[in-house]
Amino acid sequence: MIRLCLLLVWLHSMLLGQNALNRNACAPAPGNHENLNALLWMQSSIEYRHNATQAYRLAEKMLLEALRDPDWTAALEQSPGYQNLPPAVILDIDETVLDNSPSEAEYMQRGTGAFTEAGWEEWVNRTAAKPIPGAVDFLQLAEAKGVEAFYVTNRERSQEAKTIENLRAVGLPFADEDHVLTTGEMPDWPSEKASRRRYVANRYRILLLIGDDAGDFLAGVRSNLATREAAIAPHESYLGTRWIILPNPAYGSWERAISGGRPAPTREAGLKDKCALLP
Ligand SMILES: [Mg+2]
Repeated sequence: MIRLCLLLVWLHSMLLGQNALNRNACAPAPGNHENLNALLWMQSSIEYRHNATQAYRLAEKMLLEALRDPDWTAALEQSPGYQNLPPAVILDIDETVLDNSPSEAEYMQRGTGAFTEAGWEEWVNRTAAKPIPGAVDFLQLAEAKGVEAFYVTNRERSQEAKTIENLRAVGLPFADEDHVLTTGEMPDWPSEKASRRRYVANRYRILLLIGDDAGDFLAGVRSNLATREAAIAPHESYLGTRWIILPNPAYGSWERAISGGRPAPTREAGLKDKCALLP
């Protein structure tokens, strides 16, 4: 009996030791499952759905408040004299008004894990993305209130037609070439979105910015963690008032920031950076 108890104690301590070892080593798992929980949360949880709905309900309230206040602007790029310009909102597309989590799930299921240009192109051409909960209602309200919407997206210029088709298919208003501003559509429109926000802000008073990535709101956030924190800190009062942020646990500039603001050279290197950040 005593021997049995000692054996059990030894086994228990071995298992605990093994767990501690695995946690510390944080070794890459075979296959690629890093996005499994993130994608399941986006696709199956009421929590994700309600987070998005909550964000857009807040956007509706703030839109009405912004319309009542002629000095209200959400864009740091807005120039003096904007009070007399017609009102508009700026939204990102991916994971802001369109849900691409099925394409992310495909990368994972294929075992490739990460985003590939070819896989993304194929997904865009399918025009099968569903709307993010709350987006259609919000934009229909904006349209009814005489507020135009501009989609500032890092989809490529070559993907504009299919993107417009997808936006129209899910009932999103302002789905046309004048309102969808893609990367590279003009020579000074890089993936950094500030120049496109300025383009809209020169013509409209920007009531709200809506996006899932800090880059949808301000420049200088495609950097390391500390620089991002410092960039957004002066604008904290904009969060939840002029800037509405959608949840995206699957990807974004936050992930690159973990590796210093650039893509990790290999999956293993990226995982090492992520593991090293855990307390
Ligand atoms: Mg996005």
